[in-house]
This record gives sequence, C-alpha cells and structure tokens, in this order.
Amino acid sequence: MTFRHFLGRVAATAALIPCLALAAGKAPADAPAWPRPLPADADPSKPVLVLIIDDIGQNLDYGKQALALPGPMTFAFLPQTPHAVELAKAARAQGSGLLLHAPMANQHHYPLGPGGLTLKQNREELQQTLEQDLADLPPVDGVNNHMGSALTEDRERMNWVMEILKPRKLYFLDSRTTAATVATASAFQHQVPWLQRDVFLDDDKSLKAIAGQLERAATLAKRHGYAIAIGHPYPETLKVLGERLPELRKEGFRQMSTTQLLSWLDSATGNTGQPSESAPALPEPVEPQAPGSQVKRRPPAVLLCMSPHRQHWQQRSRGYRPQCP
Ligand SMILES: [Zn+2]
Repeated sequence: MTFRHFLGRVAATAALIPCLALAAGKAPADAPAWPRPLPADADPSKPVLVLIIDDIGQNLDYGKQALALPGPMTFAFLPQTPHAVELAKAARAQGSGLLLHAPMANQHHYPLGPGGLTLKQNREELQQTLEQDLADLPPVDGVNNHMGSALTEDRERMNWVMEILKPRKLYFLDSRTTAATVATASAFQHQVPWLQRDVFLDDDKSLKAIAGQLERAATLAKRHGYAIAIGHPYPETLKVLGERLPELRKEGFRQMSTTQLLSWLDSATGNTGQPSESAPALPEPVEPQAPGSQVKRRPPAVLLCMSPHRQHWQQRSRGYRPQCP
C-alpha cells in the first residue's frame, strides 16, 4: 500500500466516525475520536497489532499458555482469583502489559465475582473496592472492564473510577461491552489516558470464527495504523494466536502491548488524546505522482486532526496545515 493510499484510507475511515456516532445515537457529545491520531513515525507497511487476553487468574494452565504467546502481549487480571498474583508477576517479568480486569456491573445481571464494581455501591464503596482490587495485584499499567455493559454507561460512576486512576497515573482501556459506553468520555474529561477495543476475538469460540476475527483486527490495523483485539484464555483462542501471530509478523505486522501503544500514540497527541503543542510537524505537501512512478520517502509522518469535521481530516491527510479546533 502506498503512503497516499494509507492516508486516504485513514481519512475515509475517520470521516465515517461522526456518521457512526449519529447512527448509534448514544455516544456522548464529548466522546473523543477513535482511532487516535498516528505519531510521526507511523509506517503503513508495519501496522500495529495489540492483543489483550482478559480473564487471567482463574486457571493456571491456560494462564501460563497465554503468557507463552509471542509478544509483547497484554494480560488483564481478574482481582482476587487464585492465580492472578503469580501470573501477573510472571507477565511483568517477561515485559508484558498488565491490566486490572475490573469486574463491572452488566445489564444481564451476571455475577461479577470478587472485587466487582456495582450500581448499588456509593462513591466511597465503589472507590474502596477499586482501590482494593488494585492493591491485591502487583502494580499494573492500567485498567479495563470485565463485562460492564451497565456501569460503563453510567457517567457518574465512571467519573468515580477515573478519580482513582488519575492520581495513580493509570490508563483506562474501554473493552466496549456496550455501544453507549461513556468510559472514554469520562477518561478524557479527567485527563486519564485511554484506549478502546476494536475487535473481540472469541465471542464465537470456533477456530474459524476466531481466525476470522483476528484477520478483521489485521485489516483494521492496516487501515488505521493499529488495532486492539481482546481474547480470552480459551484453548481455541490460544491455538489460533499461537499459530497465526508468527505469520502476521512475517507479513510485516508489529506487536505492541497496550502500554507501548499508548506511549507511541501519546508521542503525537499528549496523554489526553488531543493533539498537543509538541506534536510533530506535518510532512511537506506531497505532489501527485505520475501513475506507476516509484517514490522513495522517509518514514511517513502523519498527524491527523481530531476534528469531527470531515474537511479537517482530509486537509490534514493531504499534508496541509489547517487549524485544529
Ligand atoms: Zn472479562
């Protein structure tokens, strides 16, 4: 794919975001745009795949198999589960990303297990529970939600969550278990660094379906520069990832942990997800090339404006320098 195609794809996809938000009719007005802008050293020939394995801690064997996957991977640990601490220490030692997988209230009333954040808790109870969940694990890099289709729609409670993460310099990864999530809007408001999931790998546990979802993540990574996929320590998921990840690397994909992705993206935007004063300069405008001509370039420099207005994205993608709002 040429640099021009890459930019075109990013701009075209970005332009869809406000439309999708309107179609859903639920996204909060202050929800930050996703995908986030790419840093200056983004290389369209090396899309970034970020793989997270949730629900680690209950089963030691599957946990160990997950940790043995080609990395860097990210693992999300359920609090107060029998093997969470042991596996989290091992994951830290091998340089993986570590998340607290915080159980959050869901719309189906599935039991949350220990350490759950519920709609019935008041602010003090919810925050004490979250603090305890964090204290029960070795130091983590951030938090994502286990279930949470009810709690992540509740702005007040997500604000309470962010009040705990902010002073601890933890980020929030929204697993997006509901289209009406306000988690990233709340994180954005509190200046808590944030990311969000693109693909669930194993809602359908068949090998074929999981492989298909992994390819979907790879396609999104090519289109946006990166993609975040979440799976679980199921034998089928571990098998597909174990076989396919080495091949994807040979095809040019890079793997990053969530923490690595966040610091890479922050080099473009600062840790709030908004373009910062120190964001790298845009490349010079590129003149159209004759069909078939080969152009040698430095690694492409891309910075996309966060504006929801299509014109801004397009202008930026052509290498001009409009005012970002
Ligand atoms: Zn989970």
